[in-house]
Amino acid sequence: MGEDMLELWEKAISSIQQKMKSQNFDIWLRPIECQSIADGAVTLRVPNRFFQDYVDANYLDLIRDQLRALTGQDYAIDFIISEGQGGAAEPGDGEGAEGNGARPAAAPSQAVPLPGGTLLGHLNPRYRFDTFVVGPSNQLAHAASMAVCSMTGRKYNPLFIYGGVGLGKTHLVHAIGHEIRAKHPGKNIFYVSSEQFMNEFISSVRTQKQHEFQHKYRHDCDILLMDDIQFIAGKDRTQDEFFHTFNFLYDQHKQIVVTCDKYPQEIDNLEERLRSRFQWGLIADIQAPELETRVAILKKKADEEEITLPDDVAFFLAENIRSNVRELEGSLIRLAAQASIERRAIDIEFARHVMRSVFNLSAPRATIEDVQRSVCAYYNIRMGELKGKSRQHSVTLPRMVAMYLCRQGLGASFPEIGERFGGRDHTTVMNACRKIERVWETDLAVRSAVDTLRRKLAI
Ligand code: ADP
Ligand code: MG
Repeated sequence: MGEDMLELWEKAISSIQQKMKSQNFDIWLRPIECQSIADGAVTLRVPNRFFQDYVDANYLDLIRDQLRALTGQDYAIDFIISEGQGGAAEPGDGEGAEGNGARPAAAPSQAVPLPGGTLLGHLNPRYRFDTFVVGPSNQLAHAASMAVCSMTGRKYNPLFIYGGVGLGKTHLVHAIGHEIRAKHPGKNIFYVSSEQFMNEFISSVRTQKQHEFQHKYRHDCDILLMDDIQFIAGKDRTQDEFFHTFNFLYDQHKQIVVTCDKYPQEIDNLEERLRSRFQWGLIADIQAPELETRVAILKKKADEEEITLPDDVAFFLAENIRSNVRELEGSLIRLAAQASIERRAIDIEFARHVMRSVFNLSAPRATIEDVQRSVCAYYNIRMGELKGKSRQHSVTLPRMVAMYLCRQGLGASFPEIGERFGGRDHTTVMNACRKIERVWETDLAVRSAVDTLRRKLAI
């Protein structure tokens, strides 16, 4: 590789370094080697597949932006893998290629009808129903997504899936795409984000190909999967265009699936008539997953990636990342990447070490209620008993342990703890804490309970 090219990469990487947390930089950017830069394409060498996925998902735009800032040119970015797993990045196959992060652009508008069975847009091969973990938080959205694939009743039209960032909306919509492709190979599936829809619409207006745009979305499309509809809020002309597309497809009994980060009524600047259209079908929400679901997601992901993930580490991660599955997966990948660099197994000490600073920054600390809940689960008693009046040993011991944890782990005050345990006097709490300290040396069961709970709660 030429000197100047090397220099370009060095420059890019050092300005990226200034924009990132140093820990993240050290883990994810420093190990990357630039293999070549030529003809608008950069090839980066990364240590393993985890790196590729993680960098692809999180840092690709940053790298690309930086190269553009330095050269005024857009670069395609490819990866090769240094060792193991085949030695080279998987070649893009058009549909499954996610290695270079460059989503294939939507097909150019054309008046000739698309051949049957066309897929417009990119479906991530990993986002399928069988890789989606179902729990109470996403059951309805999952069931409705499965139902639209059978295309019999069409009663869920449109299907509107909403929920916070990183909770699996895109995953479900891609899964619908895959499933319909498998079950109904003749159907034309359009998967687009509303942003792509808008860009394509604008460019069709500019090039006076609006008619072709309309033809494509109305006549060629059998299933419209529109991701992140919130983006078109406030974009009047795009909304108008989408409204007409929607009506056309709806009248033809074509399935429409829309995702959004909000409930229709909560999207600001969305036209009333679109809002009401969304309510014609089924609105399904995705909530943040419960602890058990989070653990199951981690285990599934670990299986897929062939990572050995001990239970206590899975719980440790799941306890600390509650509201975003993408972050949850990111933490696992991060651990795996770090473990593979250091060539060691993932165990709880290692996990605590690697994740410590991350969790301190982003995780809400455990609360008194978290402690109470974990203690109840550990001893298998009910919350009512824990806070209640029972003097039975099977309840008083957990109660003392819980009070001790609130004091030692959370630093809560004696009166506050008393208040939160059924309005007890602070002296009761002090006695409970002293009692635990007294038996500490002799009672291994208590010690192990406290240790386990502290680890689980990260306190
Ligand atoms: P959203 O579109 O809601 O922001 P994504 O669909 O992109 O979220 O999901 C973020 C990540 O979390 C993806 O890698 C996805 O596979 C994963 N994910 C989310 N929910 C689940 C689930 N229930 N089971 C398995 N993976 C999930
Ligand atoms: Mg999404």
